[in-house]
Amino acid sequence: MPQKTKHTPMMEQYFSIKKDYPDCLLFYRLGDFYELFYDDALKAAQILEITLTSRNKNAVDPIPMCGVPHHAARDYIRTLVELGHKVAICEQMEDPKQTKGMVKRGVVQVVTPGTFTEFSGQSDNNYLVAVKRVFDGYAVTYVDVCTGELRGTILTSLDALRNEFSSLANREIVVDTDELVEELREVIEYFQLVVSHHQMKDDFSDFVPEDVLAEVATAELVPAFELLLDYLVVTQKRSLSHIQKAEEYHADHSLMMSLEAKRNLELTTTIRAGQKHGSLFWFLDETKTAMGTRQLKKWIEKPLILECDILRRQSLVESLMDNFFERADIGDLLKTVYDLERIVGRVSFGSVNARDLLQLQHSLAQIPQIRALIESLNEPAWEVVLRDMDSLPQLAGLIDCAIDPDAPLSLTEGSLIKKGYSEQLDTYREAMTNGKQWIAQLQQRERDITGIKTLKISYNKVFGYFIEVTKANIQYLDEERYERKQTLANAERYITPELKEKERVILEAEEKSAKLEYDLFIKVREIVKGYTEALQRLAQAVATVDVIQAFAAVSEQYQFTKPVMSFEDRDLQIIDGRHPVVEKVMGRSTYVPNSIQMNEDEHILLITGPNMSGKSTYMRQLALCVILAQMGCFVPASSAKMPIFTKIFTRIGAADDLISGQSTFMVEMLETNHAIRLADQYSLLLFDEIGRGTATYDGMALAEAIITHIHDHIPAKVLFSTHYHELTDLSQKYPGLRNVHVGAVEKDGEVVFLHKIMEGPADKSYGIHVAKLAGMPDSLLANAEEILTRLETMADNHQAEMVAGNEVASQNEVSPAQNVVTPQNEVSQNEASAKNKVASPTVAPMQNEAASQTVATAQNMVAETSKATAHISPREPQDEIAQLDLFTDIAPVLAIDPQQQSVIEQLQTTNISNMTPLQVMLLVSQWQEELKGSR
Ligand code: ADP
Ligand code: MG
Repeated sequence: MPQKTKHTPMMEQYFSIKKDYPDCLLFYRLGDFYELFYDDALKAAQILEITLTSRNKNAVDPIPMCGVPHHAARDYIRTLVELGHKVAICEQMEDPKQTKGMVKRGVVQVVTPGTFTEFSGQSDNNYLVAVKRVFDGYAVTYVDVCTGELRGTILTSLDALRNEFSSLANREIVVDTDELVEELREVIEYFQLVVSHHQMKDDFSDFVPEDVLAEVATAELVPAFELLLDYLVVTQKRSLSHIQKAEEYHADHSLMMSLEAKRNLELTTTIRAGQKHGSLFWFLDETKTAMGTRQLKKWIEKPLILECDILRRQSLVESLMDNFFERADIGDLLKTVYDLERIVGRVSFGSVNARDLLQLQHSLAQIPQIRALIESLNEPAWEVVLRDMDSLPQLAGLIDCAIDPDAPLSLTEGSLIKKGYSEQLDTYREAMTNGKQWIAQLQQRERDITGIKTLKISYNKVFGYFIEVTKANIQYLDEERYERKQTLANAERYITPELKEKERVILEAEEKSAKLEYDLFIKVREIVKGYTEALQRLAQAVATVDVIQAFAAVSEQYQFTKPVMSFEDRDLQIIDGRHPVVEKVMGRSTYVPNSIQMNEDEHILLITGPNMSGKSTYMRQLALCVILAQMGCFVPASSAKMPIFTKIFTRIGAADDLISGQSTFMVEMLETNHAIRLADQYSLLLFDEIGRGTATYDGMALAEAIITHIHDHIPAKVLFSTHYHELTDLSQKYPGLRNVHVGAVEKDGEVVFLHKIMEGPADKSYGIHVAKLAGMPDSLLANAEEILTRLETMADNHQAEMVAGNEVASQNEVSPAQNVVTPQNEVSQNEASAKNKVASPTVAPMQNEAASQTVATAQNMVAETSKATAHISPREPQDEIAQLDLFTDIAPVLAIDPQQQSVIEQLQTTNISNMTPLQVMLLVSQWQEELKGSR
């Protein structure tokens, strides 16, 4: 900070305060403004688009300065905090009128992204997170300043941390070392977190309930809770009596979904628009209260994994499904229950107003009826919820007696307290009313005496009560009786001793009454504070009722069915399942339901089918059914029997993900690696068109190698969609793999997608048809058809050569079994695609032949078996030919050059049993480069 000139005492004070808040914008109160100086001013002026001025304009080094009016500060602060800045609010701690010299100033609150309570239109949780490094990972704790929710867990990896942050959607983290920031850098950047460094000051215990950490069993978590609470107290500087008892939880006690899985499945927001609309959350959100909405989101983020918990929720849902009228009534009652959690938070902060208390009372008044309706259901599973559903009649009664139903928002203007609540207050009010009546009578009397009809008695803040007479009428006044107070253009104002006396009585009563009302209100507020815990429990119970009624409403409206759940029995059978969101958007009658069956023996489904036929939808449909079922909701199917999963992984390699601009092949491989390393028999894996992000052959090589690996090592349930038709032959080799495809029929030259899942592999990919659907120009489409036919013919010719000679294969010492074209295959293909006359193998140029073997060898190596019978499909789908051959010269090269020979040798000698799929991929891609160079 420049200090060339000697600073005024005020600036000295500013510096002394600012030095404690280096990472905040300091709002320095000066009369009716908050002023910002130096860099703070430069930054704020730019962001808030306010005028930048300067202090000491004529000095050598004027101080940059900008300001915002005190009464409008909230909006400016919101803007800054929403953009990730922190604001320290520095107030005048003394009345300037009564102080000589410098007014004392101090920071009263630091507003930070993680502690801000007034984001526009927000009813979501806003979590502040603290992280501490512990022996075996990270201690993560978080708090919602509004609701007082306080939780913590130990996470053992950065991945787990990333997943947790994605659920919490926090904007800020508190840490105590630079090393940790370094370690978390990637996560911090990914979520664009505001990082707050904090060192324990150890003074939080006076502000939060004493027993707040009493139930934390894991000692390693305690320091992370302390760091969090200490930071909270240091920034908030106010009572935090609503902070709930810290709750410890384990991330693996709920269904684990990676951040990518949640994103891809569009659980709470859509991938493209990032909006709630179109997500599962949007679909399910039939909740009526803010508490219910927040709870629903939490349940979606963390579905259950314990059978008993799932069954209990199912019973709750079922009881409301079976009782339509009760459910409808409960829904109506919930509509008028306000956000209890937030009201309790405001009570604790001291920012609650009379209207909040009236809302609280109104909400409490609904509880007995909700209870009665639930009790009438006779479902024992509700008992736990009912236990916390205390309608707190004493509290409701108190608010009812004390608070005026027409109370204003302000606490200082009176009219807060109901008549009859305080005798003293009623006396003051009587004095006020009597006084005012007396004044009204006086006005009449004066008119009678003077005969001036327009004479009136009014009030203003400067002169109090006065008698006003127009200039024209002054002549009728007996001036002796009146004291002139003010002269206006066409009137005079007077007072009289008796008027002044009455005025004193009235004003005194008003002042006393306003003060008494305020005091009484604060007393009521303190009593409400005593109910904090009970109200928080009630809020939780209400939230549960709300989400369950939403589940029931949705399940009924969309004809969901109760799934049979089991942890032991791993058979999966969903009959006529649907994707709830796609169905809702496109309409029930248009959506084609699809069944799915898997068991421990057949646990991999390989899904083929034309583009746009419904492969991705089918896969996501299963994942959403799993998530719905494990939240305790019913599922969109006519019947469902489902094993309970503990982890879901997804890898969407298709064009679907390219839209988000996040998909690189590296990301694809990292995610795949993550999935195959962590998956077990209780996992669900969705691999959607994996390998699409790279060239055809290494993509296909990896896809096949991944399937092989899964088949051999991971007994998880796996859905694998692919555009590599070659892979469908794997079903012959792997008993655990079954082919299904999405049906399409050709009618009068037009292809009709049936969106129906059928047994067996698909026969072709209809790429050009999709292009047609997309509205591409006719000439372009015709050209594509032509090119396709040419490619097919070339492939045919080459096939003929290959079948005749098969020299290349023997030259390269590939066992004949790896590359045979069985007559059976030929027949079936020819049958399958009369129009599509592609025969096997399609790859004409030598380069491609060598690449084929790359594939075969890579597969063999990953499978760790030298005898693996990697099968090169006798037929290439059109899009692959197009991919390869449109960009390369198609002339066959029959001789092997030294570079190709070198690649082949490397293939034979490389031992990849210790390599990761990614390393294999890199190697394969390097070979490819070499082969390209060889031409
Ligand atoms: P793919 O992954 O095979 O390219 P998608 O799953 O993305 O296809 O589906 C493409 C479109 O087809 C969807 O956007 C939807 O409009 C429609 N669709 C998918 N499945 C169905 C279905 N079961 N019933 C009706 N329409 C469907
Ligand atoms: Mg797809």
